[in-house]
Parts: sequence; structure tokens; C-alpha cells
Amino acid sequence: MENCVNHPNRKALSVCHGCGKPYCKSCLDEGNDFYYCKSPACQELLRKETAVTLLPPRVVCPRCSSELELSDSDRASKKFHCPECEAFLDFTTDPPKALDHKDYTEVFSSMNQGHIALLKSILDDADIDYYVVGEYFLAADPLIQPAKFYVLNDQVTEAGDIVKKFRANLFAVTRRKDLSD
Ligand SMILES: [Zn+2]
Ligand SMILES: [Zn+2]
Ligand SMILES: [Zn+2]
Repeated sequence: MENCVNHPNRKALSVCHGCGKPYCKSCLDEGNDFYYCKSPACQELLRKETAVTLLPPRVVCPRCSSELELSDSDRASKKFHCPECEAFLDFTTDPPKALDHKDYTEVFSSMNQGHIALLKSILDDADIDYYVVGEYFLAADPLIQPAKFYVLNDQVTEAGDIVKKFRANLFAVTRRKDLSD
């Protein structure tokens, strides 16, 4: 890789996807798939790449046909509960899915994005049928309310053990950090 066009003494990390010139880490912003430099034209491309598509402010519940008014975070996450029939709705698919809320039990909630991502990968590995409500947040904004994990009732015991171990690990990590401070 060549050197950064702004910093001739630094190795370039990547080329900008917009203008194709090489830049170092501090001169690039990371999009979903590509890097972009700080030039206004390339920043505009970055904004387009990372633009979040929102659901309309009102949708119809596929289960009970109620018209639902959505919060901004629901519109972005596309996953939420119907307050009328209590179904868990997943609008990330077309047509949207409606899961029966009664078939699922809440096993974990967290405001920590790292913990949420970690537990999701653990549950994925364990083939647990789960869904998360409220996990979406804009990168810079902290969560207003915790993301909640729901697990299929048949797997609650299995998932409960996983969550217990997960919590114990988190606690151990925190403790170790506290001791070294
Ligand atoms: Zn550029
Ligand atoms: Zn640079
Ligand atoms: Zn409904």
C-alpha cells in the first residue's frame, strides 16, 4: 500500500471508495462496507452508504390488523411488539413476521452494546431460537431503554444456563478490571 496523500510519512490504510486515493487511518471514515476520505464529495457518499432506511411512521400489524404508531427506534430496528395483540413483529422480512409473544420468555436485558452483540453470537452458536427487542440504536446515542432478549419457551432452561454463565463471565471480567485499577 502507498503512503497517505495527506501524510506522506504514513502508510495508507486503504483507498477512499469515493476518489480512489490512498489515505491513512486518521484520514478515513469507515462506512458499512468501504472507507471514505474527508472530502465533502466522499463524505456525501459515506452518508448515503450508512443511511438507515426507516419504516413509515405507521404500519399495520400483520397479526391483528391494528394500525400502530411507531417510535423512531422502532422504525429503525423494524422489530417491536404490537401493543394490541402482544405479537412480536419483525418487519425486516417481507412479508413481516409475527411471532407469538406467549411462546417466548424474557431471559436477559442490557444497555451495553458489546454485551448484546456477545450474547447474540453465543445464542446463535447454541442454536437457541431467540429475538431481541430494542437493540437498535444510532451509534452515537446511548440506549434509552435496555434491549431485551426473548427465548422460545421450550429452550428457556437451556438458554437460562447460557445466560447465567454469560453473566458470571461478565462479572469476572469487571472484577479483574476493578482490582487492577
Ligand atoms: Zn475520497
Ligand atoms: Zn493521513
Ligand atoms: Zn397486533
